[in-house]
Amino acid sequence: MKIFLILLLALGAFLPVFAQDSKQTEEPTIVGRITVRTDSEMRRVMAQALDLMEYREGDDLLFLTTQTELYRLEAKGFEVTIDQQKTAELPHPGTDTFMGGYRTVEETATFLDQMATQYPNLTEVFTYGQSWLKVQNPSLGYDLRGIKLTNRNNRIGNKPIFMVQGGIHARELVTPEEATRLIEYLLSNYGVDADATWLLDEHQIIVLPMYNPDGRKIAETGQLKRKNMNNTTGGCSIVNSGIDLNRNYSFSWGVVNMPTDPPCGETWPGLTASSEPETTGIQNLLIANFPDQRPAPRDQPAPLDATGVFLDLHSTGNLVLYPWGQDNLPPPNLQLRTIARKAARYNGYNPIQTIQLYPTSGTSQDFAYGELGVAGFGMETGNGSGSCGGFMPPYSCMDGGTGGNFWNLNRPVLLYFAKICRTPYMTGEGPVTDSLTISRPPAARVGIYSLRAQVTDAASLEAGQNIAAVEAYVDVPPWRVGSVAVPLAAEDGNFNTPTEYAIGTVHVGPGKHIIFVRGRDAAGNWGPVKAVFKNDGAGQGDG
Ligand SMILES: [Zn+2]
Repeated sequence: MKIFLILLLALGAFLPVFAQDSKQTEEPTIVGRITVRTDSEMRRVMAQALDLMEYREGDDLLFLTTQTELYRLEAKGFEVTIDQQKTAELPHPGTDTFMGGYRTVEETATFLDQMATQYPNLTEVFTYGQSWLKVQNPSLGYDLRGIKLTNRNNRIGNKPIFMVQGGIHARELVTPEEATRLIEYLLSNYGVDADATWLLDEHQIIVLPMYNPDGRKIAETGQLKRKNMNNTTGGCSIVNSGIDLNRNYSFSWGVVNMPTDPPCGETWPGLTASSEPETTGIQNLLIANFPDQRPAPRDQPAPLDATGVFLDLHSTGNLVLYPWGQDNLPPPNLQLRTIARKAARYNGYNPIQTIQLYPTSGTSQDFAYGELGVAGFGMETGNGSGSCGGFMPPYSCMDGGTGGNFWNLNRPVLLYFAKICRTPYMTGEGPVTDSLTISRPPAARVGIYSLRAQVTDAASLEAGQNIAAVEAYVDVPPWRVGSVAVPLAAEDGNFNTPTEYAIGTVHVGPGKHIIFVRGRDAAGNWGPVKAVFKNDGAGQGDG
């Protein structure tokens, strides 16, 4: 691992020029050597404006070039050769995953197109802006792209939205992978898993998997690039240049992280609020998709029935974060704390107000909540160190490894946020239904099915209220006109603890049906539904 990283770091020195050249020419990039023995030779070489590395080996200078350029130099009498070893070691953006499987920027873009082709009725791929490099020069940089997941055939008015973004900090390699895994999971499980199915029928999941593609391209060579590629201030190195996009949002911009801070610092917020195209793209997307639900004063809450959940994916630290970041004022919707604690129950992360990590301003989650009243969160995946720790764990840590297994660990968290997005401040306070099974009781009448559900109001750091009621719905979920509640009973006779098993029977017609279950706590909050399919084949197996 360590040797591999060192190799990547060495290669990383090539990248900035390489990434630009590969866009400007069809010819493969190679590493050339040019021998320079005298000052006059050096002056001649310098006049060729080669893409020189910032080091030399004896009399040789190394540079990124093409075969055509080498022939041209040879014809002019220069002593040039190809460095085969270094050429072989060049990264190949757009063709290979890296570090065992992480998708590159290009592969992530291709992946979105593949999903759109494979699931046309469940997807809408869109472009919401251009990266900083692309704004400067259309032949560089990338389009900023996202995907909206919802059953487009199921047009039922305003579907609530869960928006999740990955890769705002380029070196946090795990986060775009978590975002793309969510896309794959929901689409491939539509019609298979009942929860994935109703989430796409009834909600919209907007995923922005690659927030900072310019920066990510540098990070893909193993360099610890965090910010975007705006190098207009400070004369910083490639790795340290740029604006921290998660300090550049316009809400409370410049309060903690200030424009007078050193521009080469990793949390520099830029010269003005939302100065970066990556930031304005997402801010506009948030404003276009969510209503403004919060009054201006920072101590005033959004209404209880405010809609929408927003999640910004980061690493590392094993944290679930909620507003605010700038000071110790608790968010006026203290439900944010409860939701973070309920989410953290799934992955065991520490749910804290962002300020408890360190002070921040101009962040994404504070914009989503502060500007619009959307329930805004951040999540920090993974340990700071160890075999699956740090910004760049091996790809295998997505599915295993000590301190890893990120996808299995965090999938339930993402699905939880997706489930509560209709009215997070009410639904997020309610109990969750953790398990739900359906079976045919022996000798039961035609169409009668037994349900058994485990419902709990417990959260990380909170015992929760007692369960007060549990109910089931067949085919029509509780928020839809025409839904019919079927009360379930406590298996032990009484709903009087924060975790209960509920049982009961429902009548279900022949064929495939979906059954929803939800619980209510003693404070009167209904939690999110969990669903299960009953499928015994049309016209059979129902007797
Ligand atoms: Zn981060």
